[in-house]
Amino acid sequence: MDKIIAGVQRFRSHVYPSDRDFFEHLARKQQKPIALFITCADSRIHPNLITQTDPGDLFLIRNAGNIVPPHGGPVGGEAATIEYSIEVLGIRNIIVCGHSQCGAMKAMLEDPHLNDLPAAKAWFQHAEATKRIVRAKYADLSPEERLVAATEENVLVQLNNLSTHPSVAVHLSAGELKIFGWYYDIGSGQILQYDQSLTHFRELDGQAHATSPLPVRSFKVAASIV
Ligand SMILES: [Zn+2]
Repeated sequence: MDKIIAGVQRFRSHVYPSDRDFFEHLARKQQKPIALFITCADSRIHPNLITQTDPGDLFLIRNAGNIVPPHGGPVGGEAATIEYSIEVLGIRNIIVCGHSQCGAMKAMLEDPHLNDLPAAKAWFQHAEATKRIVRAKYADLSPEERLVAATEENVLVQLNNLSTHPSVAVHLSAGELKIFGWYYDIGSGQILQYDQSLTHFRELDGQAHATSPLPVRSFKVAASIV
């Protein structure tokens, strides 16, 4: 904890005083974030750093595997946060961001000890579609390649889960809300974005490629199962 305590003291003695006006302004006004940013709990992801945004810009949901439980199950923190962000804060952009070397994805795919982690095992039920898509489409890939594919597919699965929430669905259908799928590569600093017209992730090039509720790749898989 020493590093954290020293950091708090440095924040109070140096960082806050040098930006006091900014923080006082933040406190006075109602927050008006640019986007809801849903990402993994992994400590190596710093949403404000990789998007070069400030306090007040991103409304966050973080959990193991950047998972969005679909509407219809027990109401949890994710559903409440999504609803609040859209209906109260007026957010009109949602980013689901997976990342490289995701421990949650690794565990979901291959961890033999998952039976000893009942909470994690239950949580990953919300990514069961990811698991099945990976099994059906990527069996021939190396473990490293399969992990990347799983992480990307999981972003699409979670975008679909997201679209089942009534507050999301109604604003999507009205064309008032955009959802984006990202993959952050920790080692290279690259951020890839799902491009629905190409049906794959490619480097974010300055254009925001919104994704519709049923991403093409997942839809094809679902259709072939049907
Ligand atoms: Zn992760």
